[in-house]
This record gives sequence, C-alpha cells and structure tokens, in this order.
Amino acid sequence: MELSRRTMLKSSSLALMSVATSTGLAAHAAIAEEPVWSIAPGVYIGEGSGRSGILTAQITVKNDCILDIEVLENPDTDNISEIAINSVTKDMRNYQSINVDTVTGATLTSFGLITAVQDALEKSGGDISIFEAEPQYPSPEAQDCECDIVIVGGGAAGMNAAIEAKAAGKSVILVEKQGFLGGGDSMFSSTAFITGGGYNVYKGEFEACTEEDYYNYICKKYEKYDIDKENIHACCMWGGKILDFYLSIGIPLTKFNGNKDFRNRMDDGSAPGTHIMRHLSAYMNKIGLDYRVNTKMTSIIMEDGHAAGVMVENPSGEYAIKAKAVILASGSFTRNEEIISDYCHAQKYAKLPRICSSANTGDGLLAAVEVGANLCNMSENFIKLNAIGFQADNGAALSMVPIQTTAALVNDDGLRYVNEYDTLAKVLIDTELEQPNQASWAIFDQKLVDANAFVRDCIALGYVQTGTTWEELASVIGMEGQAQENLVATMQKWQKTGTGNVEEDFGATIPDAFDTPPYYAIRVQPVMQGAYCGIETDDMAHVINTEGQVIPNLFAAGVVSGHGFPPTAGLTVASGFGRIAGQTAALEIA
Ligand SMILES: Cc1cc2nc3c(=O)[nH]c(=O)nc-3n(C[C@H](O)[C@H](O)[C@H](O)COP(=O)(O)OP(=O)(O)OC[C@H]3O[C@@H](n4cnc5c(N)ncnc54)[C@H](O)[C@@H]3O)c2cc1C
Repeated sequence: MELSRRTMLKSSSLALMSVATSTGLAAHAAIAEEPVWSIAPGVYIGEGSGRSGILTAQITVKNDCILDIEVLENPDTDNISEIAINSVTKDMRNYQSINVDTVTGATLTSFGLITAVQDALEKSGGDISIFEAEPQYPSPEAQDCECDIVIVGGGAAGMNAAIEAKAAGKSVILVEKQGFLGGGDSMFSSTAFITGGGYNVYKGEFEACTEEDYYNYICKKYEKYDIDKENIHACCMWGGKILDFYLSIGIPLTKFNGNKDFRNRMDDGSAPGTHIMRHLSAYMNKIGLDYRVNTKMTSIIMEDGHAAGVMVENPSGEYAIKAKAVILASGSFTRNEEIISDYCHAQKYAKLPRICSSANTGDGLLAAVEVGANLCNMSENFIKLNAIGFQADNGAALSMVPIQTTAALVNDDGLRYVNEYDTLAKVLIDTELEQPNQASWAIFDQKLVDANAFVRDCIALGYVQTGTTWEELASVIGMEGQAQENLVATMQKWQKTGTGNVEEDFGATIPDAFDTPPYYAIRVQPVMQGAYCGIETDDMAHVINTEGQVIPNLFAAGVVSGHGFPPTAGLTVASGFGRIAGQTAALEIA
C-alpha cells in the first residue's frame, strides 16, 4: 500500500513539476529579489478519508516548511488511530514530506491524515512536489542476538509476560509485528470491562469478591462448556494482583459491579482495554524493556527438542533471537479462514465480517503446530460471534452490543423472527443467518438516541437511517409493498404491547415501546469477534505436545491459547496467563 501511494504521489508530482517549469520561470523573473515560495505562507485546511469517515487537518506553512499539523476532526477515535496520528504527524514534520510510512495496523487512519495534509497543501495552489521526497528512515538492525526470554506479541498477554519476566531479573526481548505496542484485540477491542476478583480497593465493600469467588462464578456460569478448571483457577488467582497493578500504573478503574458479575469498568463508561494498553505501553518504556515493533516472528527455533528462540523478520531482513525460553502471546486466528474451516470446522462462520484486529492471523498457533504442539477446544463453540455487528461501506466493522438489550430486530420482510433479549447468542446468530440477506434491522426511537452516546456517534458517522413515521423509516431502508406494510404492523404491535409487557409472538419482554419519533434503524448482521481456543497449555502456561508432554522452554499466553476458558473475559485470560508465563519461564531458566 505504501508503495502504490508513493507511485501515485510520484506521478502527480511529475505532472505538477512540468506545469511549474513551463510557468514558474516567468514568475521568478517578475518578482526579482522577493523570495518565491512554492507554497504561499498561510494556514490551510484539508480533508482525507479515514477508517470511519472524513478526517480534517489544518496545516501552518511558512518558508516552505510545514510548521504545524493539527487534526481538527478525526472520526477514528480509538487508541490505534491516536498512535497513527502522532506517528504520522511527527514523521511529516520531521521529514517535511507527505510520502511518509503509514503505521502498520492503522493504515486507513494514517492515509486519512496524509491525504488531508496533501489536500491542504493543494488548496494553497502552490507546487506541493517539494513535500514529496522519500524520507530516509534509519534501517532497523537485523542481526542475530540473544536474551533469556523472547516474547512474541505486544498485547495484554505479551506485555504482562514481559513485565513479570523482567521483574524476575531476566533479559527480555518482545517482538511485535505491528508498528506499535498495545496488541491486536487488546487495543482494537474497545473492550467494555475487565473481569476479576480480589481487587484490593474494594476488599471489605462486597461480600464475595475474592479471586476464589470469581473462579466459582466462571465455572458455574459456563458449566455447559468443556472448560479447563485447573487453568481457569490458576488464572483467576492472579486477578487481584493484576487489577491492583493496573491501578498502580494509573489506570482509573473505579467502578466495580461487586459480586454481581465481577465486571470492572471505568467511571466515565470508556473502555478499560484502551486505557490498559496505553498505560502498559508507557510502563514498558519506563522500565526500559527491549521491544521491537514491525518485527514479525516467522518460526520457533528448536534445539534437541527444546524451544531455543525464534526467527524474526523486520524491514531490513531476517534474523534469529536465541533465548532460553519462548513465550507465544501472538493473539488469535480469527482473520485466518483456513484455521477456522480446517481446524475448527466452522465453515458456516468463516466468511462473516470481523470486528477484531487484522493482526489475528494465527501465526503463533501455526508456528507451535510446526513444532508439535497440541491444540485444544478447536470448535465453533469457542469462537465468539456477535449477533448484531455493523459493517460500514469503508470496511469498518463494529459491535452494536450497546443497543442489544433495547433494539427490536426486524428482517428485510419487515418481520420480527426471534426473542431478541432471551435467546442464546449462537441460536440468535443461526436464526439471523436464516433470514433474507442474512441480516436484520435494529430498530429504536429517539429516546434511545437521547440516552446513548454510542448511538449518537453512530448517527454522526452516517451509520443510522431515520424516518419520522414507521412508513417513512421503511421506505428509507428500502422496504416497499408488503415489506413496508409488515414493518408498520410489526412496530405498531410492539408499541401496543407496551414497555415492560411480554409480547405474544416470541415471548420477549418489551424494554421500550418506541413511542417517541423519529424512528431509527441500523443494518446489523452476525460478525466474528474473537476465538478462545488454540495451543494447549497446562496451568503454568507450558505448551503441551500431541503426546501430552510439555515442550520444554515453550510457553503460550492469552488468546493464542484460550487456556481452556469459555469464550469470555479475554483481557483477564491474557493478563493472567501473561503473568503466569513470565513467572514460570523466569523460574525454570534460573
Ligand atoms: C470488539 C471486542 C470487544 C472485546 N471486549 C472485551 C471485554 O469487554 N472484556 C474482555 O475481557 N475482553 C474483551 N475482548 C477480548 C480481549 O480484548 C482479547 O481477548 C485480549 O485482549 C487478547 O489479548 P492477547 O494479548 O492475547 O492478544 P492480542 O491483543 O491480539 O495481542 C497479540 C499481539 O501479537 C502480535 N502478533 C501476532 N502475530 C505475530 C507475529 N508473528 N510476530 C510478532 N507479533 C505478532 C499482534 O500484532 C498483537 O499485537 C474484546 C475483543 C474484541 C475484538
């Protein structure tokens, strides 16, 4: 992508330069000693297409230098886009070029900003070719090296493993294939909560909120799943320590649902995942951990049946990192259709849109299989699907979970087909896949919009259709004839049933009568969110081979394994098993 952009910029630059040579000399002669700037000094505003919409940037140009770049509007509000904005802005200013590299993992936001700055420069009417030189980036080294423990992946699992191993006095190298620390799903997720008990701040306030209570809660709630209780217990026992550590490094986790569902949230409703990743990354810098971004593990080095390091590649080439222990923390495989079909036999879900990171290509799982690792829980039961996902025209996909407990689900024939609020996720998804076009409309009214900032953001991004009457809403979303009549009848019946009452068709308790126009509809469909299965480990994070034996010096942590957890609490699994892997590896190589 970077190459094609450069080619494109070069050809536009050539065109501009030929215009400049035919007209520019006369202009130079006319104003004699006055300096002639390619870009007239001034402030210019430009627009570019980001991941979720139009990004607007303002630039200040003086003496043919871009002095300042300010992003005025950026619809991509997550942490990854912030990282991209900071990195691309810095590069454009340092190198005085719009031909800078995008940030791997945040390509669309990076392009949005670069295009906005290019647009702003073009609005000056000047010759922008002076800003099209290719920056001379320093090449990263690609030399063989050694350390005690090498960790693959810079998400919640990898960073917790690194912090634990370093605290035990080991030399650690962490490699991350994206251009930043923070993980794939860990960062991408807009995670809603981190579960766990034993949180010191709240000790004494709730009757049952210890690590053991959380363990019992998980086992009871997911007793129908084939779960690994020993692994879950080991992970839950780290809960309090991890949550207290997160607090100690400045993550404002303040709201706790007590013994109800063990969900720890932020007071302002923002997603803990992004805060955790930002603060963990900062902590990694503070303690001087050796981490290498844009560095991809390609295979595990084995010597005499022991893991002895990894092969990695960066933009300069391939090299070996020899180590006494290897921790795989490379996330899940949900972007790898072959793994979903061939290993999980979940072909019917393989093509669903994804609301997870594009980094989830299963690299760690495949590398581990190469060296004899066994896989566990590889079935559709451990793939986390979401019944009401949304996919934007620009490819952005997100979870509509914030409206799941309120919106009515109607198919393209204008009919409801399920109890939206009390149907097992899997059944709901399978039923949805049987509907025309395998999608539905999530319907609600102005009251939900007034109450829900998430919905208002969706409206601002153009994801939501609206009409002042049910007839108008039906027509706006393309329902005509019988379908339109059906939608009107369906929603009038809904209104008639009234808030808090049970409707007769599917037995749903109506959460809101939707009696406050205008009415709204969002196109929703099943999407894939994550996978909680993969490399088999024991409760100390050792990787187990197909003979049921530990592969010496090889560990796995986080959703690269799933560790026998049910499909839930990914951040807890990643944080807990990251710590366990870091601790065990450090102890065993001592
Ligand atoms: C939409 C959404 C909502 C979620 N909500 C919640 C929630 O509310 N609560 C909760 O607990 N969990 C939630 N989760 C799940 C949770 O975010 C993840 O399960 C967890 O963060 C996974 O952490 P990890 O470190 O194992 O993997 P990741 O965060 O995916 O990190 C893996 C890292 O490894 C890197 N990598 C991969 N291959 C290589 C390679 N070959 N070489 C080098 N690096 C490599 C990747 O780039 C990535 O940075 C949600 C997930 C999603 C997608």
